[in-house]
Amino acid sequence: MSQMIRCKHCHRWVPANPRIKDQQYCGRKKCQRARKTEWQRSRLKVDPQYKANQDEARAKWRRKNSGYSKQYRDANPAYCDSNRTLQKKRDQKRQNKMSGLPLPGIGPAHMNALVAENILKQ
Ligand SMILES: [Zn+2]
Repeated sequence: MSQMIRCKHCHRWVPANPRIKDQQYCGRKKCQRARKTEWQRSRLKVDPQYKANQDEARAKWRRKNSGYSKQYRDANPAYCDSNRTLQKKRDQKRQNKMSGLPLPGIGPAHMNALVAENILKQ
């Protein structure tokens, strides 16, 4: 009987492929895609040459398809609204963090707020 592995992406138990050493993903397309994405993500962190090539390829693609973002936004207004709302939240969070105000709904105030509070007390 072959050994079983638990897929890191879909969490299913599947028979291990004896030809793959330290197998972590099953053969499903979406799981193999996840494996590749993970590989690329880690490669970008550790290999400056790979990152430079990817950046160059991305810049080249953007030059070639310069109207893509506008076209996508025009075709997907719901995505734009959702993105705008989420970005406002991120902006607000960053602003609160910089000003030292406690984040709404998050327990104790962070370090900067405590420092600011102590300065005011002195
Ligand atoms: Zn899987």
